[in-house]
Amino acid sequence: MNTNLPEQTVVIGGGIAGMACAALLAKSGHTVRLIEKHDDLGGRNRKWIHKGFHFDMGPSWYWMPDVFERFFQHFGHSHTDFYSLKRLDPSYQVFWDDHAPTPLPAGIEGITELFDRFEPGSGTRLTRFLREAGIKYNTAMADFVYRPSLALTEYADLNLIRKSLRLDLFQSMAKHIRKFVRDPHLIQLLEFPILFLGAKPAETPALYSMMNYADMVLGTWYPLGGMTKLSEAFHRILLEQGVEVITGTEVNDLVTENDVVRAVATNRGLYEADLVISGADYHHTEQDLLPSQARTYSEKYWQKRVMAPSSLLFYIGFKEQIPGLLHHNLFFDAPFAAHATSIYDTHAWPEDPLFYVCCPSKTDPHCAPAGQENVFVLIPLSTRLDDDPAKHDYYFDQVLTRMEKQLGRRIKDQVLFKRSYCIEDFKTDYHAFRGNAYGMANTLKQTGPLRPKIRSNKVRNLYYTGQLTVPGPGLPPAVISGEVVANYILKNHNMKLV
Ligand SMILES: Cc1cc2nc3c(=O)[nH]c(=O)nc-3n(C[C@H](O)[C@H](O)[C@H](O)COP(=O)(O)OP(=O)(O)OC[C@H]3O[C@@H](n4cnc5c(N)ncnc54)[C@H](O)[C@@H]3O)c2cc1C
Repeated sequence: MNTNLPEQTVVIGGGIAGMACAALLAKSGHTVRLIEKHDDLGGRNRKWIHKGFHFDMGPSWYWMPDVFERFFQHFGHSHTDFYSLKRLDPSYQVFWDDHAPTPLPAGIEGITELFDRFEPGSGTRLTRFLREAGIKYNTAMADFVYRPSLALTEYADLNLIRKSLRLDLFQSMAKHIRKFVRDPHLIQLLEFPILFLGAKPAETPALYSMMNYADMVLGTWYPLGGMTKLSEAFHRILLEQGVEVITGTEVNDLVTENDVVRAVATNRGLYEADLVISGADYHHTEQDLLPSQARTYSEKYWQKRVMAPSSLLFYIGFKEQIPGLLHHNLFFDAPFAAHATSIYDTHAWPEDPLFYVCCPSKTDPHCAPAGQENVFVLIPLSTRLDDDPAKHDYYFDQVLTRMEKQLGRRIKDQVLFKRSYCIEDFKTDYHAFRGNAYGMANTLKQTGPLRPKIRSNKVRNLYYTGQLTVPGPGLPPAVISGEVVANYILKNHNMKLV
């Protein structure tokens, strides 16, 4: 037992980042209590069960399996202890307004053939693009993303600077991609993974072509039983490591004295704390739970941040299976530029948005009653909109109309039920700043040390993890974020992750 350790560590929020951090600290000897507002763990990665349908409420793309594997290995586990993974082939399909639907095969040979069909010669250029993207991915994993990013000087290592310059990291993704392909369909295929980072390709640094490597080389996977298998696995690890998990309990105040948090006040009473890590939305923790003199960032600072989009989601039960859909379907049958402008510039409700349809019952019969179909629809929206339930029905009808046109069949009369979920739900459920779905965008000015810091500047024993700090939005970054914070805290106690 290390006597340097705080007596009681409290983690706020049982999302993936909070759970990762709590489990790693507990493994290293900390006495950890995790407090979560909802009755179940997982945060944005939770489940909604209705009429025999099992909906993953948030994430549906299981990318970068190596990151999850690395986390499980810290505890002597592999994902196989918790779930089976299936690589999807095709990875996904895209619907266009001027071309037949395009499935993206799993495997680089099939993808280069596909590129050559759209633009002769582009297959070879894609291979070069992906080779560079692979170097970025491996460099980022080895040299960048597991750093606490508290100061730019962490990156002032000469070798790293040399590598960065060679890798063309800071040019925009939009320009970088256009050096390799010209066909608009291929440009859109290569720009699609950037949407996960929550910013326009013109404002996202070319470092993130590593996401194309994740997409096309590492592949799209699915945990049988649903994405929430991941949350269940993390929960099991928490219990194995002796973390005290308190659910259905909302933190509403951090009790500070001078520059130290002494206790965490909840709707169910007070919990003493010597060390606090918040995995809840960063803005909420600072602005709602801390007194003003204890905040590192002002409201003005937050107002200037570019948030990743919010979303309008539909969870739909269909009476019958829908031929023509695959597990992942991207409806790029409307102009992307107009939609992106409405999200990032005009902050308006989009006229004809691009949307994404997930149909996990194509892979996993567990998701829907026999013969029926589980469908999840996502439309990215600006976080500066006032939610308006009247709009939900308008978009529901538009989405189904466009699906009918693309699929060449009627589906509206097959709807058994639908639930919509939008900006106000993100605020109510997660205290999400402006109702963001995926946190803060990874623009050039909001990457690495330029993101909100993992350590409070004002409160000595307060740390932050999750999608608003480093490295950014997404499940793999959430796991990495938990690990970065746990590691940083342990280093301060002269300990290492075991
Ligand atoms: C619709 C949608 C689709 C997505 N798709 C993908 C995808 O396909 N692939 C992918 O990798 N990522 C995807 N993401 C992003 C991914 O889900 C998130 O980046 C990740 O889950 C964030 O984890 P987190 O731990 O940082 O935050 P959260 O999951 O938000 O966890 C924070 C937790 O804190 C709790 N909390 C908040 N306030 C309090 C309080 N006061 N007291 C107690 N508890 C509190 C919340 O209830 C929550 O459980 C998607 C997200 C959404 C919303």
